Amino acid sequence: MGETEHTGFILHGGVLYSKSQKELVSLPDAYLVCVDGFSRGVFPQIPSEFEGLPVTDVWDKVIIPGFTDLHVHAPQYQIRGLIGDRGIEEWLSNVVYPEEAKYADPTYAKRAYDIFVEDLYIGATTRAAVWAAMDMESTITLMDFLEDSGIVSCVGKVNMDRRGLMGMQESAESQLTLTRKWLDAVEDRYERTYPVLTPRSIAACSPQLLKGMGDLCREYGLPVQSHISETRKEMEEMHELCPGSSCYADFFRKSGLLGENGAAIMAHAVYSSDEEIRILKETGTLIAHCPGANAALSAGIAPVRKYLDLDMQVGLGSDVAAGASTSIFTAMKDALYTSRLRAYCYGEPSSPLTFEEVFYMATRGGGSFFGDVGTFEPGYEFDAVVIDDSNQDTMLDLGPRERIERLMYCADDRNVVSKYIRGAKIF
Ligand code: FE
Repeated sequence: MGETEHTGFILHGGVLYSKSQKELVSLPDAYLVCVDGFSRGVFPQIPSEFEGLPVTDVWDKVIIPGFTDLHVHAPQYQIRGLIGDRGIEEWLSNVVYPEEAKYADPTYAKRAYDIFVEDLYIGATTRAAVWAAMDMESTITLMDFLEDSGIVSCVGKVNMDRRGLMGMQESAESQLTLTRKWLDAVEDRYERTYPVLTPRSIAACSPQLLKGMGDLCREYGLPVQSHISETRKEMEEMHELCPGSSCYADFFRKSGLLGENGAAIMAHAVYSSDEEIRILKETGTLIAHCPGANAALSAGIAPVRKYLDLDMQVGLGSDVAAGASTSIFTAMKDALYTSRLRAYCYGEPSSPLTFEEVFYMATRGGGSFFGDVGTFEPGYEFDAVVIDDSNQDTMLDLGPRERIERLMYCADDRNVVSKYIRGAKIF
């Protein structure tokens, strides 16, 4: 680099990234260039314009774009893996809501959120759409911790005014007042942590609360995250819960919560009707596919093949604690497995997802919520994770694609040895 005002570096090793939904670039020996927080591309040799940049050699490892977790409930992290044989309603009422209510206690919230953020920090996730609890102070604590971790995130204080516990049934008015107070408190407080409006679901929010949140959405110019069409029971209740609407997406849109400020994130979309799919596509809504959670709660298997064929944007969510782990490697594996089951059980022979597609969803698909994120093409924000798979001893000479595909089935935090976010080295 001739000019010294730019800062950059080069990583040298195996590289794997998505070129498109269907195509991966797998290079066993390549140079990945970062300048001023952005990727400048991947090269077989160091181009002359980048000579002089410091090179970090990780030749025996594989560098991949960081993962985006598009749907994760931070205040449920303590109850991960404890669904037992409960159905979703029983689990929400008897396990989830009592746990989330504990976050009104600042001491509990601090300790629990510290454990959650540490887990996210050491894994391969570099971006996340995070749900907090209903409490305002602990939501700010969570945002402070995420900011300090270097992870780029959007975080939502949950809103609900029905079907909760006592104390989680505050009026729409008090919810809206508290949400506004929270938004004002976090304005200009962070560099990489953003608020997102978070109505828990239409079942848990009165029309009045949704409408008030739609007004906040417009006033503050914020994105939205929620759950949509997750279970069969939810579909049976649709007409009662969404008077005058053809589907949940229509009701969200009429409330001012879809298609207002860029992409909204809707988790699940397991049972979306053609009309709902049309609205989700029209409004540029991102679908957070959470296959582990859908399986754990016997909710179903989302028709992701259909969404990809329609060119809709789909990312992956761990959906902790319906999902038991924050690992997006696990979400990729679950997406593959459940899509194969769906194809087998529903007789859709062409529909199983491919490794290329689940890798795309984990990186570029979910990353698109945060802008040009999730690949190493020039101009993308530089989020990279260095993967060491030396604990998977092998006699085979495998390329980056096969090494990461195999690791998808058995990775844990030990395999993540370095992490870069927006060009900054996190560890
Ligand atoms: Fe969820």
